[in-house]
Amino acid sequence: MNRIAAALTVPFILASLSSLAACGNATPEAAPAAVSAEPPSPSASSAAIPAGSANASSAAADPKPDAPAASPSAAAATSAAKLYRMNKNYDIVPIDPQQTGAKVVLLTFDDGPKAEATLKPILDALDKHKAKAIFFVNGYRVKKHPELLKEIDARGQTIGNHSWDHIQLAKEKPETVREQIGNVQQIVKDVIGKTPVFFRPPNASGNATTHAVAKANGLMYMTWSNGSLDWEMSGDKIKDKTAAIIKNVSDQLHPGSNILMHELPWTGEALDALLTDLEKRGYAFVDPASIDTQA
Ligand SMILES: [Zn+2]
Repeated sequence: MNRIAAALTVPFILASLSSLAACGNATPEAAPAAVSAEPPSPSASSAAIPAGSANASSAAADPKPDAPAASPSAAAATSAAKLYRMNKNYDIVPIDPQQTGAKVVLLTFDDGPKAEATLKPILDALDKHKAKAIFFVNGYRVKKHPELLKEIDARGQTIGNHSWDHIQLAKEKPETVREQIGNVQQIVKDVIGKTPVFFRPPNASGNATTHAVAKANGLMYMTWSNGSLDWEMSGDKIKDKTAAIIKNVSDQLHPGSNILMHELPWTGEALDALLTDLEKRGYAFVDPASIDTQA
């Protein structure tokens, strides 16, 4: 009982603190400066884990790292060895620190699928670095662009649930929350034949109902632990957006960083350089399929 209560409470508090922080393309200006810089998580558990070999993760997790695309079968996503779990700070940590390196990051891209022009550079950069990511999609966008969802899946990337309409779920009735989450599960299954196992609420807006509905849909709930702040870069205020994204990520970088990015043009432009920088710092990219969502 206590363990369950604690597990629900901590993410809820974190989510509440950062509820206005990010991920709202509809209202990017709503993110106040005070909470937009998501501080690195003071993660006791990840700090306690000895750093292992930097490239242990994806190599061990992916039995065929050179394959251009994942098998279209639903089994592909579930058959990968489970090497990681998520801690209460939404960091990705090794299940067995003796065998699996802790110096990894999880790459995530929210608010798609929008357009071939913004999606393709992201997929290409990921392929170039043999990196896997979670694409947290909105149902209304999938409905408009099922072909883009198929493209993400065909490139071996993982689809996550980001609600149907990108609304603040903590403000909604339970029935609405069930529809917002359940309908995305359904459309993704209809389009690619796989049901998401990862969920991220828009604007990190969650409460006990959101957690319960996610769980009832078999979804692991997460916000993030490293914000790229790419959602604050529209307009021409920032001259070098690539440098800004790399700086924001590296300022918050820690083992297991759960990095929040979006399907935005400047993020696609920055991604190759960002991934190169992370590799230089000794970080590997976690294959989402290697995360044990039941752990
Ligand atoms: Zn979002």
